[in-house]
Amino acid sequence: MDYISTRGSAPALDFEGATLAGLASDGGLYVPSAWPRFSEDEIRSMRGLPYAKLAARVMQPFVGESLTPARLLELCEAAYGRFSHKAVTPLVQLDEQNWLMELFHGPTLAFKDVALQLLGLLFEEFLSRSDRNLTIVGATSGDTGSAAIDAVAGRAKVDVFMLHPKGRVSDVQRRQMTTVLAPNVHNLALEGVSFDECQAIVKRMFNDRAVTDRFAIGAVNSINWARLMAQVVYYFATALQLGAPDRVVAFSVPTGNFGDVFAGYVAQQMGLPIEKLIVATNVNDILHRALASGDYSQGTVTPTAAPSMDIQVSSNFERLLFDLGGREGSALAAQMAGFEASKAMQLTNAQREGAAKLFASCRADADEMAHSIRWAWENSGELIDPHTACALHGARTSGISPEVPVVTLATAHPAKFPEAVERATGQRPGLPSRVGDLFEREERCANVPGAYETVAEYVTAHAVPKG
Ligand SMILES: *Cc1c(COP(=O)(O)O)cnc(C)c1O
Repeated sequence: MDYISTRGSAPALDFEGATLAGLASDGGLYVPSAWPRFSEDEIRSMRGLPYAKLAARVMQPFVGESLTPARLLELCEAAYGRFSHKAVTPLVQLDEQNWLMELFHGPTLAFKDVALQLLGLLFEEFLSRSDRNLTIVGATSGDTGSAAIDAVAGRAKVDVFMLHPKGRVSDVQRRQMTTVLAPNVHNLALEGVSFDECQAIVKRMFNDRAVTDRFAIGAVNSINWARLMAQVVYYFATALQLGAPDRVVAFSVPTGNFGDVFAGYVAQQMGLPIEKLIVATNVNDILHRALASGDYSQGTVTPTAAPSMDIQVSSNFERLLFDLGGREGSALAAQMAGFEASKAMQLTNAQREGAAKLFASCRADADEMAHSIRWAWENSGELIDPHTACALHGARTSGISPEVPVVTLATAHPAKFPEAVERATGQRPGLPSRVGDLFEREERCANVPGAYETVAEYVTAHAVPKG
């Protein structure tokens, strides 16, 4: 399997190369050169497989020659063996039509673990084949950071530098990052910036020769294709349980960087019968506006109770626009350059019409989020977190016909956001015992001004050269 850049001029890479590269050298994102497709019979034959076996089956076409099927299965068993629920991503029924897919049973209590536990093992596997060191530089609005740090802490040949907007992540989220004291983990709290600005600093570092000549910079954000690949699996797992391929299913996905919902699009391209993908945002609604009216223009970020969705530039949307626009890299490069210059762009007719076939969108404000949390508690006895609440709001207002099951992706454990849950329900969700004494542990974090130069200086002073 070859991976090509959405902007058309970076060299094609195999799976190993695309995993280690993260962002393409032309500023684009890697995508498979074609979508693999399963027949209905092949999908039917996946019913009842344990999660790790299903994962290996769904991902093998993307991995190609980079791992043998036996080795891929071993890595999946190691990654998913760390989850606290044997089903890994269990399904819970809320009412006749609505279901929750619980994606928060990993070590750091959010769905990012599903992909990052595997990605950590893939880095280790590929780096062990050569003398290279990898320097991971990532930006986090809260959950990617802790999941990535858990996945690579103490591993050989990898350093991780994780940037978060100071004061804009929850206490649980921050402590899950800053209390990991392994010497290869570096937390940076960036002063005076939003998540989007942290993400822009990371992207700039990938294309800064002064840095990349000495260090191999790698990505753990969902710009890394391997993350999205691992997320495709749970769409299969859930749809199979609900009757696929003989029954269609819809999904409602709390969305920030468009990674999780893009994985749903990929599952559909691979043959999974998906009726609709609901793109659910909070008041930071650039994606809702883009899908509803074609207007992809960046607003200012408003902090909400769902901080992992407080995003106004949605990196993975580029992958969808590339696919819907006929995969013309040079045209997309021009469109994205226009966006980067003016912070606004209009979707083309082909992109709008293509998106409308599969995607719906919605936006939840603070009251709608709280209402949705309360509804889940009062109707089904389930505590849900504010991100999940945005998607449940979308699921319940989407107008999808009653015979189609609608699955809301529950992306974080409610105990990651206890204040919002308690305000809405009067119940304070407790942290599961597997996170232990989080609030007693020592924290380590560098506070730095939120400017590219200071971050680049910090990284080059502390990272291990590529060798
Ligand atoms: C990251 C995150 C999201 C958004 O996912 P994207 O892939 O960026 O769209 C939603 N909910 C939670 C809890 C998250 O951590």
